[in-house]
Amino acid sequence: LGTLYVVATPIGNLEDLSPRAARVLGEVALVAAEDTRHTARLLQHLGLTVSMLSLHEHNEAARVEQLDERLARGESIALVSDAGTPLISDPGFVLVRELRARGRRIVPVPGACALVAALCAAGLPTDRFLFQGFLPAKGGARRQRLEGLAAREETLIFYESPHRIRETLADIATVCGNRRLVLARELTKSFETFLDGSAAELLACMEADPNQARGEFVIMLAGAEARESVDAASLEADALLAALLAEGV
Ligand code: SAM
Repeated sequence: LGTLYVVATPIGNLEDLSPRAARVLGEVALVAAEDTRHTARLLQHLGLTVSMLSLHEHNEAARVEQLDERLARGESIALVSDAGTPLISDPGFVLVRELRARGRRIVPVPGACALVAALCAAGLPTDRFLFQGFLPAKGGARRQRLEGLAAREETLIFYESPHRIRETLADIATVCGNRRLVLARELTKSFETFLDGSAAELLACMEADPNQARGEFVIMLAGAEARESVDAASLEADALLAALLAEGV
């Protein structure tokens, strides 16, 4: 029986493709790709000629049978997206869910993933984080989502495109105030930048230098102040007040 390999591809720098990923892409009978033209360039760079099939959000469910039949025939398949790890804000979840339910062998070939690349260099807490993918495109729904997240203590991570980065930062400033935010831009590419400040400060930075609003972004927002420390602070204040009252100040 064939295997479905879930293969991560680079998010910018082609050197981030692992030797294992290159080998698997060369060995499979078929590459199921989010955009076959995009993946054709990667395969060409690797000097590989492999047959490809498109698998994107609009045809994913319809592809399940077809791909399952090929696995049953003993052919192995590599699933790739345009950049990074498939299924992470990318197609593939329906396929993996369905094939796993049918008992097929599914093997991850890990590699680049923008959220992990961003988080490991940001200097925000990494012990607990909450990845939220893309926020809703419409302002009202976006603010509502942020309101639901504002009290979370984990580091919050969002993906964002250049079209909406300013609106999203403005909404974060409105809903979450001036807590610390780290913005990772163009990871692994020539113009990779990390900006650190409040959402309002980063917006001002983009006003001053519009190039800072170009490219692809990972937004990382510090979690809400831990409940314990708020409680500890108010306990300290209570103790101080009691001491002052006791002294008759
Ligand atoms: N599957 C990908 C992964 O593993 O990260 C994510 C795909 S999602 C459609 C694309 C979004 O990921 C971009 O809008 C951006 O938020 C983020 N992203 C991808 N590449 C990036 C990069 N080089 N620098 C910063 N963010 C990136």
